[in-house]
This record gives sequence, structure tokens and C-alpha cells, in this order.
Amino acid sequence: MRLIYLDNAATTKLAQEVADAMVPVLCEVYGNPSSSHAIGRKAKALVETSRRDIAKRLGCEPRSIIFTSGGTEADNLALRAAVKDLGCKRIVTSRAEHSAVIASAEKMADIFDVEVVYVNHHPDGMVDCEHLKEILASGPQTLVSLMHANNEVGVIQPLEVISNICKEAGAFLHSDTVQTMGHYPICLDALDIDFLTCSAHKFHGPKGTGFLYTHPNNKINSQIVGGGQERGMRSGTENLHGIVGLAAAIDLAYADLEEHTSHVRAIKKRMVNGLLAKHPGVQFNGDSHLESRLYTVLNVKFPPHPNSGMALFLLDLEGISCSGGSACSSGATTGSHVLKALGYHDPKCASLRFSFSRYTTEEDIDTALEAISRVFSPVEEDAV
Ligand code: PLP
Repeated sequence: MRLIYLDNAATTKLAQEVADAMVPVLCEVYGNPSSSHAIGRKAKALVETSRRDIAKRLGCEPRSIIFTSGGTEADNLALRAAVKDLGCKRIVTSRAEHSAVIASAEKMADIFDVEVVYVNHHPDGMVDCEHLKEILASGPQTLVSLMHANNEVGVIQPLEVISNICKEAGAFLHSDTVQTMGHYPICLDALDIDFLTCSAHKFHGPKGTGFLYTHPNNKINSQIVGGGQERGMRSGTENLHGIVGLAAAIDLAYADLEEHTSHVRAIKKRMVNGLLAKHPGVQFNGDSHLESRLYTVLNVKFPPHPNSGMALFLLDLEGISCSGGSACSSGATTGSHVLKALGYHDPKCASLRFSFSRYTTEEDIDTALEAISRVFSPVEEDAV
């Protein structure tokens, strides 16, 4: 059976170009970047070239890039640094954030004298900017942490508007850009932001590597202490092949951004049209079918059906990999906190997330649509 992968918001396939950049480093450049001899210096040069290449693509200074083990660590570092190093006593975030942000914010509140405040959303999933302004109108030094695009329903927040609100109120701003980095242009020379998060495996880079962008004005300390790597902001011997892979993945993503964007948009449209044609009554959580939403993600709410509770399992048996919420570390899926937070959760209906990449083909979509039709085949109304 051919497996069809429609779970690219969870992770993506490593690009061959990225593997080609990584393998020689993995096999041949074995020096420790902290060693001062020639073999160590060669490794260090690769770390710094990667940092410079990434910074150039994003329009920031190389020293603003702190390599981490991925998005979760970068989110944790941003929130902790805001509290410990920048004096924030309040974190304003949203209940639809990734758990790396929500759990971090709650941990900060547990450990330090910090209040966590949740901003409201409009019914379409957009952050209520007026509510954000009201919150920021008074109170202590604040970090606002709001993601760019939601990983489950694809709502994209207006980062520039949010940045202006924060600037006016004197608040720091962190954005989890894990789902948009490598998929949308990110121009840091035009965007006033304190922290931004990247994870390589969301755009065909290796797992376990990413970075935190931090504005050069922000002097922050490491949450992981030890050897003082990354200029004291993240200790631990650098993941050299991962960093090289991350830089190669960014390069690949931005070298042909328009081409891969239009390919994925067309793929998503095929899926939307196929679903609407075959399943009257489907809805798209977060209006994820709209052009203005994240083009890699489609979150579909199917009408009530006896197979609703088994849909993910049945699709998996058909060879279709998709998701019903974010994947948790045990591999099981829990009910989605995002769908609940945004008011889309309905226990009678299956909500499934299909997410696409540059490698998804029209044939994949057609095969998935056929499998979906078998899982949600028409039933007598009283069987529901
Ligand atoms: N933030 C968002 C929006 C994500 O989608 C993810 C991954 O699922 C993360 C953070 C965590 O990134 P990582 O898997 O690199 O730790």
C-alpha cells in the first residue's frame, strides 16, 4: 500500500538537498566547534557560515540567531529570558498557542512572580487586538507571545499590527513563527520584534534543530548552563550537522518560495474542492480553506457520522497519514486544546487536519479523497 503523507504541519520529509549538505558534515567534520585547533576551527566556521546565511535570508544580524534544539526550546528560552533578563512580570498570550508557549508561560508563573493573561479571539480565530490594547493599557512590564500562524487551524495573525500595539505600550513581543518560517517571507529589517522562533523540521530540514531570533538590544542569558556556547545564551556543543541542515533548508525554502507556495496552494484547493464536492456539510475550522490562511494547513470538520471517533484510525489503515490534534510525545492524540479554545470543538464531529508540502502531489490528494469517502460513506440519518 502506498502511504500518503498529509501531516506536514507535524513534520516534513527531509529534502534531498538538505541531506546532501548534512552528510559530509556528519561524516567528515567531526571537530568540536569550541576547540581551537584546525579541525575544531573548521567546525566553528560551518556554524558561523550557517548563522550568517540564515541571518542574510531573514534580514537580521548574525548575532541575533541563537541555535537551539528546535521550536520548543526556542519558545522556552524566549519566555524565560523575558522574565529573568528583561524584567517582565506579565506574559500576555493566547489559549490557541502551541503548548511550548502555554506550558512555558504557566511554568514562569509557577516559579516566578509572573502573571499570565490570555487575550480573546474573534470567532474566526483572529486575536482581538482591541482586547490586547486594553490589557496593555496598564500593568507591569509585559511580554506578549502570539504565534504567527496557528499549527492546527492555520489562522495567521497580523504580526505588524501586533508589533505596533506592543511598541506603543512598551511591551516586548515574541512570536512563534514555527509554521511560517520557510513558507512565508520573514523580513526582520522591516518588523520590530524581540523574539521569534524557528524549527527546521517544519520546512524539510532535520529534526532537533532550530533557533531563537533575539533583537540585538536584548541581553539574555542561557536557560541551559554549561560551556557557554552561543555567546553564553545556549550552552551545549553545537548540533553541527543539524545547523548546516537548517541553513540548507532555509536556503532551499527561500530560493523557490513562490514556486512551492503556488504548488501547495493548488494542492490545497484541490483538496477543498474535492471535499466540498463529495461531502456536503463539511466545514473548515478557522476558515482554513481561505487564501488568507496558512496555505499548508486545512482543518476539516466532517458532519456527524458513525465513524467520527475512528476516522483517524480508519484513514491510517487506508494509508493516509493526517492528524486530529497536535501529536503529543507518546504518539497518541489528545483532544485539541486549540479547537476547544477557539470554540470549534464538537464531540459529534471528526475534525481532521490535512497538511501539505512541496512534495504532495495531485495523485496523493485524489487517493486521499477516495479513502475519505470510504471512511465517511453516506449513512441512514438515524445511524448517526
Ligand atoms: N510551535 C509550533 C507552532 C509548532 O507547530 C511546533 C511543532 O509542532 C512547535 C512550536 C515545536 O517545535 P519543535 O518540534 O521543533 O520543538
